[in-house]
Amino acid sequence: MKAIKNQNLINQNSLFSKEIINNSNKISVTNPATDEIIGEIPYFDEQQIKKSLDTTVNNMDVWSSFLPKERQRILNSWYYKVIENIDDLAAIVTCEQGKTLQDAKAEIIYGANFILWFASEAIRINGDITNGIKPNQKIITLYEPVGPVAAITPWNFPNAMIARKLAPALAAGCSVILKPSELTPFSAFALVNLAIESGVPEGVINIVTGDPEKIGQVICADPRIRKLTFTGSTRVGRILYQRSAANFKKVSLELGGNAPMIVFDDINIDKVIDDIINAKIRNAGQACTSINRLFVHNSISKEFIDKLTAKFSNLKVGDGMDHKTDIGPLINQQAVSKIIYLLNDAVQHGGKIICGGNLIEQNKLFFSPTIVTGANLDSAIFHEEIFGPVINICVFHDDEELIKMANDCNYGLASYFYTNNHQRIWNLVKSLNYGMVGVNESLVSNEIGAFAGRKDSGIGIEGSKLGIYEFLNTKYILMS
Ligand code: ADP
Repeated sequence: MKAIKNQNLINQNSLFSKEIINNSNKISVTNPATDEIIGEIPYFDEQQIKKSLDTTVNNMDVWSSFLPKERQRILNSWYYKVIENIDDLAAIVTCEQGKTLQDAKAEIIYGANFILWFASEAIRINGDITNGIKPNQKIITLYEPVGPVAAITPWNFPNAMIARKLAPALAAGCSVILKPSELTPFSAFALVNLAIESGVPEGVINIVTGDPEKIGQVICADPRIRKLTFTGSTRVGRILYQRSAANFKKVSLELGGNAPMIVFDDINIDKVIDDIINAKIRNAGQACTSINRLFVHNSISKEFIDKLTAKFSNLKVGDGMDHKTDIGPLINQQAVSKIIYLLNDAVQHGGKIICGGNLIEQNKLFFSPTIVTGANLDSAIFHEEIFGPVINICVFHDDEELIKMANDCNYGLASYFYTNNHQRIWNLVKSLNYGMVGVNESLVSNEIGAFAGRKDSGIGIEGSKLGIYEFLNTKYILMS
């Protein structure tokens, strides 16, 4: 973390009371590229978690009483502070998460765009008035902040996932208790410090860190928290959904994905290969929207696979701080083990590893860019998230067979295809059972589009003009 010029960004003083800093046990945070300890964060005990919940609840009215235009101004100021500090914020992401600096900067801009977007939404929370069912009656619909919010965020986009959740929550007028991943907490401190500098009163956003299971339990059990917004695994999403049922919290769950990418034979092969590599190396493939299954039309498959392999196998894997690096380390040893298990299983099911397939150095987290072809459709690699720099290719022959294969999974987050045939485009848009479809695009997420999954990919919407409603309650008034 020496690379960070403004060390105040990772200061924890404004976020925890001194009592918590002095009296809590500590969790060490390491850099996945070097295995060095980069800092420590508190391990909140149950009393301390409850105290943070009290602070969040007590500050709900403080924040909701700010006028929408004041919230807009503060969020706008937060956006500009994030952009001013982009180099430091990106260095924090790279140090604690591993992705390349260039990738980290793209993450900061992506997240900041949600702040800018929701700053404008803060002043557009409008209800409506219609005539009633009797003469002189009026029906009025109002939107009110849902109440104190809990946000639980993952390690793969440690900055942007927080911006994407906190911006709409704050725009709507809600206070927030935030549990970032303990693997990547410093991005959370930095963002919240900047929010406070921008004018969000202390106590409106409260960070807690410690035992995720315990924190999840205490948050879900508290009926005063009216909304849970979570990004992470389907396994944990399911637990939190069940726990939130105890007091019927409103929930948004952005969970895993298993994105198909389909390449037809009427495209520019070189351009599509570049798009696929661009999307796949982002965060070393550790993204829920990352391409998990690549379906290539039979008539171009040989040329396509040869060219893709030549480019992909040449990418440089290493420390994200090194400007020559294309792909950073995986997050931890479990991530490595998961990929090795998927590759072994694919080989046992007829698959062939045509490049990569191993760690570049034993006991480190740098995994070589890998391509698998020919694995049986029953193999785990077609059904589980890979979360690594691995491309799994299946050659297809006709559209009907393809659509069945593409929809054959429990997830329903992102999907992508490349073709110039209009009839085919609309047929696929209709047939793909996914919340997001990229047509001749390999990256779909931005603040304007509705980020939404279905099936095991979760419920709720982030971003777009719809995202703010996840943090609002409706109130209906009948008046005569
Ligand atoms: P990933 O597999 O991407 O790490 P997780 O779902 O394990 O995804 O983690 C996402 C977030 O959920 C992290 O902040 C993590 O600490 C938190 N988390 C993990 N287990 C639980 C749990 N049982 N209850 C609440 N939060 C949890």
